[in-house]
Amino acid sequence: MTFEIRPYPEFGWSMSRQRKLDQCPRGYYYAYYLHWNGWLDDAPTEARVAYRLGKLTSLDALLGQEVDERGRELEAAARAGEAMPAPHDLEQRTRAALRRAWAASQNGRSAFEQRPNRVVMLRSLYLGQDPQPETDRLNEKVGPSMHGLLATSHWRRLHGRGDEGRVEIPAFAGFMWDGVKVFAAPDLAYVADGTLHVIDWKTGREDDTQPVQVLLQLWWALETYPELARAAAEGSLDIRGHLEYVTAGVTQPVEPPTPPAAPDGGVAPTTLDDLRDACAGTVRAGIAQMRALLADPERNVPLPKDAFERRESGLCATCNFGPICA
Ligand code: SF4
Repeated sequence: MTFEIRPYPEFGWSMSRQRKLDQCPRGYYYAYYLHWNGWLDDAPTEARVAYRLGKLTSLDALLGQEVDERGRELEAAARAGEAMPAPHDLEQRTRAALRRAWAASQNGRSAFEQRPNRVVMLRSLYLGQDPQPETDRLNEKVGPSMHGLLATSHWRRLHGRGDEGRVEIPAFAGFMWDGVKVFAAPDLAYVADGTLHVIDWKTGREDDTQPVQVLLQLWWALETYPELARAAAEGSLDIRGHLEYVTAGVTQPVEPPTPPAAPDGGVAPTTLDDLRDACAGTVRAGIAQMRALLADPERNVPLPKDAFERRESGLCATCNFGPICA
């Protein structure tokens, strides 16, 4: 098999990429362009440094990953008809994983610098920042997050179903739209009792873009699985989005767009086209904003660094790229 080194990354759109651009164009440049090929030994130093810094993580981000992992374990247990674990067991597993990440960060500096994609490295430890506020916050969040995850309605619906209604979510789930790959992976999706449920776990604060993110995930599900899109159009499948703020223990339902009334005046089902219409404006505007920062949109070649505004804010304190941001 030949291995091709691409000089520029592939262009794609996602809500997290859009947030990054909206927060700080310079940070977006570092994360999506400067880092490219920085994993190669003979890459320019600035690319290798940006790649390494881009791999730094935080305890908050690791908690999010652990919630995803516990969610997958709970789905498996529920589908198998097993008793759900106690919140205390989930908390212990999660704390153990976070402790391993902490130890890897404390002892793995040189291993991380050699292979940044193989070793977990906490930003606070790597950059010599005070880790106490982060550890205190995490200590308070882990228990409530496990309680909140366990208390969601999904395990009851999935109990004893085996593989019935399973919706597979591949890594980097996305679909092509208007010639662009749109990434929109939910954390969990399933069909139960004539309803497609799409779920996003959240351990942080609410933000205005999160309901749109779940609508994009519903769009992904219908775009990826034509049988689900057909059933929705025929009215035999309802669709429902859930934003699960597990740390706060709050569920926010995400209502699918309301289609025009049916010819007989009744309620028309929400279709794939309705979801596309609801999300297309956000995606189209984001793609245009990103393409305006390209010297060559065909090859995804960025404009020079100075075209990407440094937007200093409170977020600079937790930005991975502080050491190279000038
Ligand atoms: S340190 Fe601040 S200005 Fe620089 S990339 Fe990060 S968020 Fe943007």
